[in-house]
Amino acid sequence: MADCLFCNIIEGAIPSTKVYEDDVCYAFDDIAPEAPVHTLIVPKQHFASLNDDVPADLLGQLMARVPEIAKIKGIDESGYRVVVNTGADAGQTVFHLHVHVLGGKSLGEHVL
Ligand code: 5GP
Ligand code: ZN
Repeated sequence: MADCLFCNIIEGAIPSTKVYEDDVCYAFDDIAPEAPVHTLIVPKQHFASLNDDVPADLLGQLMARVPEIAKIKGIDESGYRVVVNTGADAGQTVFHLHVHVLGGKSLGEHVL
């Protein structure tokens, strides 16, 4: 989508710090990190959110990349949190499906 921030990042029209890329997804560091490691994983195909009829196999592929990307960032053994904000109450601000991977410090209490 031409007016989607993350589609533009995937295409390289907007610069980003690449962490990982394959035919399914692109991963890059968050511009405003909330932890020492804060990486976003996005599918190359545009979906607005988890509510956007995302195929189950694509969701599986995205989640399967998480440990590999955590390892690249050096947090696979120390641990990490995976977050997918969906909609207004979750504070989703970019409407291209993305998986936050946070780590590099103790993240404190769980929300749930
Ligand atoms: P959300 O709040 O939608 O779950 O997460 C969107 C994330 O995208 C935020 O953590 C925000 O810091 C990040 N972000 C917004 N604009 C940019 C950008 O231009 N580049 C990068 N690398 N991250 C961005
Ligand atoms: Zn998009």
